[in-house]
Amino acid sequence: MTDALLDRLRAIVGVDHVRADQETREAYGVDALKRGHPADAVVWPANTAEVSAVARLCHETRTPLVPRGAGTGYTGGAVPTQGGVVISLARLNRILDIDEGNLLAVVEPHVVTGDLQDAVEAVGLFYPPDPASLRQSVIGGNVAECAGGPRAFKYGVTKQYVLGLEAVLPTGEIIRTGGKVVKNVVGYDLTHLLVGSEGTLAIITTVILRLIPRPPAQLTMRASFPSVRHAVNAVTGLIRARVIPAVLELIDGECLDAVAKNLNVRSLAPEGTAAILLLEVDGLAEQVAAEADRVQAACREAGSIECLRAAGDAERQELWRVRREISLSLKVITPLKVNHDVVVPKARVPELFELVERLRARYRLRIPCFGHVGDGNIHVNIMLTPGDEDEMRRASSAEEELFRGVIALEGSISGEHGIGFSKMKYLEWELTPETVGVMRRVKAAFDPHGILNPGKIFPE
Ligand SMILES: Cc1cc2nc3c(=O)[nH]c(=O)nc-3n(C[C@H](O)[C@H](O)[C@H](O)COP(=O)(O)OP(=O)(O)OC[C@H]3O[C@@H](n4cnc5c(N)ncnc54)[C@H](O)[C@@H]3O)c2cc1C
Repeated sequence: MTDALLDRLRAIVGVDHVRADQETREAYGVDALKRGHPADAVVWPANTAEVSAVARLCHETRTPLVPRGAGTGYTGGAVPTQGGVVISLARLNRILDIDEGNLLAVVEPHVVTGDLQDAVEAVGLFYPPDPASLRQSVIGGNVAECAGGPRAFKYGVTKQYVLGLEAVLPTGEIIRTGGKVVKNVVGYDLTHLLVGSEGTLAIITTVILRLIPRPPAQLTMRASFPSVRHAVNAVTGLIRARVIPAVLELIDGECLDAVAKNLNVRSLAPEGTAAILLLEVDGLAEQVAAEADRVQAACREAGSIECLRAAGDAERQELWRVRREISLSLKVITPLKVNHDVVVPKARVPELFELVERLRARYRLRIPCFGHVGDGNIHVNIMLTPGDEDEMRRASSAEEELFRGVIALEGSISGEHGIGFSKMKYLEWELTPETVGVMRRVKAAFDPHGILNPGKIFPE
């Protein structure tokens, strides 16, 4: 990066908000995937006008520009693949309005998701999308990835809550899409084209989010099963019985053991447990009690060992803690994991688990699984020993077979983490050449010089 370009960036955002030292360049060259390419410079604009000026400069000079939220993405989305400027939205971090009359919030992109939830819950409202990273990840990153999370089974994912956006195109033009109304069919739905576009079409600078009333009561439950198959059967039973818990998460025995080891406790579930379901029902108090009974009945019918209801908030937090600790705890198995977020239609979850079982046996791999079983979205973690080349090759074959398998099951290779650069080579396995073709033409219409987040989603 030339000094002249750095000077022009400094002139836009101020000298204190441009950094090109080695430490910063490297820190912004990785996200949760832990791979990538260092940035040449990182800039922190203060507002939409500065974001626009940075984009215009990069467009004019053909400099790669990579939008960055909190950097918790799992597919290298916020990381340069060929240097250039990383644009952090960290200074655009205000909740601009919580509009109780219209059931919506207007926020800047760098509001931490959990902070927004706390703020709206304080006035009796609810923002349901809850990626497990909610205490770190930010709304801009959630919108750009269309983040999901445990509550998606009942409440849907981020896209169901985005009503409108302000965004800066790679050319520097500022656009506004959607608005404060729930019904809006004027022109193309650019809002939902930008949701999930992984920072490749525009830089999001303001988000209008739909809110709903906070459910007055909720109850968390843990059902323990002697096998994953029993737990999956319970899920099928619940869906057949038309019970829709707010949360329906599966955790297999290997994940449970890892969490127990990490927390240094002997066991987290009754003797003989090989899988648990973490369930939450919510709504009016009487409805919650009735739903909890139906959940318990379905679990019992599927052969549960025990179905525990959290007695109060402390016990609820204790049950949730197990789920929240999984990602970190898997490191007790080995420090390296590839976390896949495959998804299949709900009724085909048993076939997905059969596929994983075959992969474990055929490739001699440890593959702990957990996730949003109610949506068919399972985190399949292929564990790797650093430096073991043979295991690495087996893992790569297992990954390919997993992806071919979920596509054959009418599922998708990514339910919530996106493609980034880590899954690019598989895009055309799932989408037809015509579909990819139209996506490339959309990209070219937004970004004629291909400067915004290059090397993502589309294989070169
Ligand atoms: C422990 C852990 C648990 C997780 N659990 C979940 C989960 O349950 N569900 C889930 O969906 N994900 C989960 N994730 C993945 C990750 O948290 C989500 O993808 C999240 O939405 C990323 O947000 P971020 O702010 O970190 O974005 P980043 O990682 O910074 O960026 C993600 C993508 O968004 C783009 N981007 C960021 N900000 C903007 C903007 N303002 N305008 C345009 N593009 C932008 C970036 O270029 C990049 O492509 C988890 C991650 C971790 C580490």
